[in-house]
Amino acid sequence: MNCDKHPEREGVASCIICGRILCEECRLKLAGRNYCQSCADKLFQERYGETVETESNGMGLGVKILMALLVILAVLALVSYMIYTVYLAPYYGSAENVIRILMNDPERIIRFLSGNI
Ligand SMILES: [Zn+2]
Ligand SMILES: [Zn+2]
Repeated sequence: MNCDKHPEREGVASCIICGRILCEECRLKLAGRNYCQSCADKLFQERYGETVETESNGMGLGVKILMALLVILAVLALVSYMIYTVYLAPYYGSAENVIRILMNDPERIIRFLSGNI
């Protein structure tokens, strides 16, 4: 019998899991047993898959924190926009006007929002 992957090479062992014939190069000897590359990969994934997943969850947590920050920023932007539309726009007109007022006299806006204007 020749190697499953290399038909020109003589098989020296067979995988104990899938039975594939393996040449000297293809044979992986682990703890005295012969495995092919794909079965050894599967074994490794089964044994260490949990660790790899935990690591990716760690990365996922970072992404979640980033997403939360983006949501907070979006909410803040929405709230400022609502404050502008509901409270400022009817009295001060365009956003440029509001920004000019804010730049020139920020206290006026604060007094207005507190209802003391
Ligand atoms: Zn195999
Ligand atoms: Zn081979």
